[in-house]
Amino acid sequence: MTAPEAPDPDETVCARCLEKYDRPDLDRLLWCEGCRAAARATAGRWGWVAGLVIAFLLSGWLWLVVQPTLLIEAWIGTVVASLWVGAKAAREVIYGVMRLRNAPAVEALPASQHPPEEERRVRFR
Ligand SMILES: [Zn+2]
Repeated sequence: MTAPEAPDPDETVCARCLEKYDRPDLDRLLWCEGCRAAARATAGRWGWVAGLVIAFLLSGWLWLVVQPTLLIEAWIGTVVASLWVGAKAAREVIYGVMRLRNAPAVEALPASQHPPEEERRVRFR
């Protein structure tokens, strides 16, 4: 009969996925690399949605208010630039808000319900 395993003092739980990691593998907010990558990807997708909304609103304003007749290519370029810059800016804001809220990820499970190791590795790829 062996004594129950003592908790490893160097191990910490990721604030987002609730998995155990060595402390140096987590960042200042106790997020693991997989969670940071997943949050960046989510923020990137929502950033493009926000960029599209910004570009759509700008196009509407140009179409209805400015009504450009000259240099149409330059105005199209302005809309495309607003899409790209808006998506990047929104991505940073969304990622910042996710970091600020520091909430566990939707997919985080209590330790008793963790999937087997192989499934977890696939999930973070
Ligand atoms: Zn994590």
